[in-house]
Amino acid sequence: MSDKSVNGTEEVTCPYCGHEQSDSWEVSSGKGMHDCEGCERVFYAEDEIHRTFNSWTEEAELENRIYNNKRRVSMAERSIERCKEAGEEPLDFDLKCLELYSKALESTQKELEELRSKHGTH
Ligand SMILES: [Zn+2]
Repeated sequence: MSDKSVNGTEEVTCPYCGHEQSDSWEVSSGKGMHDCEGCERVFYAEDEIHRTFNSWTEEAELENRIYNNKRRVSMAERSIERCKEAGEEPLDFDLKCLELYSKALESTQKELEELRSKHGTH
């Protein structure tokens, strides 16, 4: 682009005088018209979206699933325990959750063991 544009700035910046708009975070996404607070001229600006990536190992993924399933299992167990303490029948929902997440936990743990033995890590 020519020197009539300013690119890659943190704030919306006037291409005439270099004035930075302090409330850029309020600017809506896409192309828009701006009145410069510095030189009072009209200019156009658009936001640029940067895509970032997070990545993790298969092992970490399984560990994370195990962690979540353990939490769900213990939540269901606690809920069932509370009902028993209150002399009530445990909720069908909690019993189903316990069964479902226990199974999921078991199979994920198995999957992780297999993965570890395949790659010889621990
Ligand atoms: Zn300006």
